[in-house]
Amino acid sequence: MDKISVSDARRAEAVGRHVRLQGWVRTRRDSKGGFSFIELNDGSCQGNVQVVAPGELANYESVVKHLHTGASVRIDGEVKASPAKGQATEVLAASVELIGDADVNTYPLQKKGHSFEFLRGIAHLRPRTNTLGAVARVRHQVSISIHQFFHERGFYYVHTPVITASDCEGAGAMFRVSTIDPEAPPKAEGKVDYKQDFFGKPAYLTVSGQLQGEAFACALGKIYTFGPTFRAENSNTPRHLAEFWMIEPEMAFYDLTDNMDLAEAFLKRIISDAMTYCLEDLKFFAEKLENNKGLFEKLENVLNNGFKRVSYTEGVDILLKSGKTWEYPVAWGVDLQSEHERYLAEQHFKCPVILYDYPRTLKPFYMKVNDDGKTVRAMDVLVPGVGEIIGGSQREERLDVLESRMREQGLPPEGYEWYLDLRRYGTVPHSGFGLGLERTILFLSGMANIRDVIPFPRTPGNAEY
Ligand code: ATP
Ligand code: MN
Repeated sequence: MDKISVSDARRAEAVGRHVRLQGWVRTRRDSKGGFSFIELNDGSCQGNVQVVAPGELANYESVVKHLHTGASVRIDGEVKASPAKGQATEVLAASVELIGDADVNTYPLQKKGHSFEFLRGIAHLRPRTNTLGAVARVRHQVSISIHQFFHERGFYYVHTPVITASDCEGAGAMFRVSTIDPEAPPKAEGKVDYKQDFFGKPAYLTVSGQLQGEAFACALGKIYTFGPTFRAENSNTPRHLAEFWMIEPEMAFYDLTDNMDLAEAFLKRIISDAMTYCLEDLKFFAEKLENNKGLFEKLENVLNNGFKRVSYTEGVDILLKSGKTWEYPVAWGVDLQSEHERYLAEQHFKCPVILYDYPRTLKPFYMKVNDDGKTVRAMDVLVPGVGEIIGGSQREERLDVLESRMREQGLPPEGYEWYLDLRRYGTVPHSGFGLGLERTILFLSGMANIRDVIPFPRTPGNAEY
């Protein structure tokens, strides 16, 4: 008797094996013929396996006929070819053991569909639903594909710190990390004395591992980070989390074109792996989510075509000539909003777009200044349905330009001396970008809200579980 997963029991090759299955009852249906069907799921795949529990089982009347949705069971039996359509196998049970019952009157996940909003309120149980289970499996596959993609190309995985004393971009609002008693902080000259705090100065949760990643790229050549990232912005949108996961490759001797080529190959690899290894889950998303019938067409279209590369200036021209009225008006020099990004990717080009060469005033100090003096070598990858999924740039490798950019943006040089050293000693042209893991899952699945593609979402006003 082998313990196998539901996923394995569903394969035609399993026919004839005597197996043990352990999982949760999705539904039970009693047949007039004096036996019952149990739909069993153990999370290993989207589909259930159908278990036929014959009336001859010793506990048929006492246990089997009272199995509830959500109960955990252990089933020994033989895998048979299924006569029913749409499934290769079923399992004829020799024994059914109830492990943990689930009270029908209180178990919140009954057979009927629940809204995603309702499920967020039971985030500890929602991984048992078809949709959140599929999200978890796709997240896993995407994470594996990311490591494989970089490993195969000679990139090293670097673990950058979660706690940092430098505000990387000078942009994103940060969460403070402190052991100071907020009721009675130590004071010096009337102000809170952070010299007495744990790190001897103010410290924060990281908004990006990029600067530290650059130190390793300027030693190992090609590296990537993959870790949690924190932003204390009060953006209550379906695309922002306070805690999300970001993948940040950084490459010495890469210019902006190399950076774009890498970003495009990277996204294509993630998509094609998901279509190979998560087909059943993606089909589920295509069939069950609203307005998602075209999911496969969208993904195929991205795989089979080059991303459109246009400068920010050209992008703004297109938006200005579109004849659309925007909630946020467009002009050269303004930051593009989600509505603009999505218009370019969804309606104008109908494919992923790489926008590059943004106004210097919009972007952080570390991006390389172009010869025109007005723009920097930034690139954002915009995809249909989501908008910005990647933000990156070629970095400024010239010490004097970097220093003047820091002054321009009012950054104190003190905390950044180590970063400037990377330009003082053996500076090289280099590039990198950041991909948001959750935005990638939104794109791949067609899910509408970023809170439903991370296990336990953290957003303004919400850090439950
Ligand atoms: P946006 O303009 O959409 O707020 P950003 O320009 O602040 O994003 P970057 O600093 O460029 O984001 O971060 C790189 C990537 O990380 C983004 O392209 C996106 O995929 C992801 N990302 C950024 N902020 C968030 C967030 N709050 N929640 C989830 N993902 C995010
Ligand atoms: Mn960005």
